Amino acid sequence: MLDKVFDSLLALAYPQACQICENPVENLADGVACQSCWTKTNIFSGTETLCQKCGAFLQTKSSNFQTYCHRCDGHFYDSVCAVGIYEYALSASVLHLKREPFVAKRLRGLFLSGFQKSDFQNATLIIPVPLSKKRLLERGFNQAAVAAKILANQTKIKLDEQSLARSIDTPMHRAGMDGKARMMSVENAFEVKRPKFIKNEKILLVDDVFTSGATVSNCAKVLKENGASEVYVYTLARTL
Ligand SMILES: [Zn+2]
Ligand SMILES: [Zn+2]
Repeated sequence: MLDKVFDSLLALAYPQACQICENPVENLADGVACQSCWTKTNIFSGTETLCQKCGAFLQTKSSNFQTYCHRCDGHFYDSVCAVGIYEYALSASVLHLKREPFVAKRLRGLFLSGFQKSDFQNATLIIPVPLSKKRLLERGFNQAAVAAKILANQTKIKLDEQSLARSIDTPMHRAGMDGKARMMSVENAFEVKRPKFIKNEKILLVDDVFTSGATVSNCAKVLKENGASEVYVYTLARTL
């Protein structure tokens, strides 16, 4: 206990090293990455061409016609949005969030402003992507729920951590798994515990990172099967 107090005092007195480049993090609001690593991180500004459905990064410049990546054609969600690309400061922050239930002020701000710029304002219910009971016990918290609470507190949209559950403990996604393997590994992993709470709701599903989309697509599938009218997905970061 005392060690912990000492550690936090030390952290206040001596800025911690950036988890990417090891230079000191001078601003506490930047969290685990330094100013210059934040500058290098691709935060979506709204001028990029992103897939209209899954938000995949397609080009740096915006084009006027609607564009789809088509990798997401079979996915069950309606639309996906992320703060930016899973790289530099965003990847370090997301990895840190898996260890500690903490989102630094800079990322909290980006997460909120990204939501305000999104088409998800009409969402009626916020649901974090659940962990299995086993994983929740191991980790002690659900990192998606930490992000979901930030949004719920600021937007006053209702937070629901009970209606959607992860019934099967799926193995962690490995880098070598292709989209189909990932899709199969999370198939039937989720179930709706309280259908009447999600019926006709426009659900904003929140997760830390969007990779293949398999997890959130399977969540969206069961939510829609149980009467949700729309399922949007919002994450802190997404892979390229
Ligand atoms: Zn750095
Ligand atoms: Zn797409």
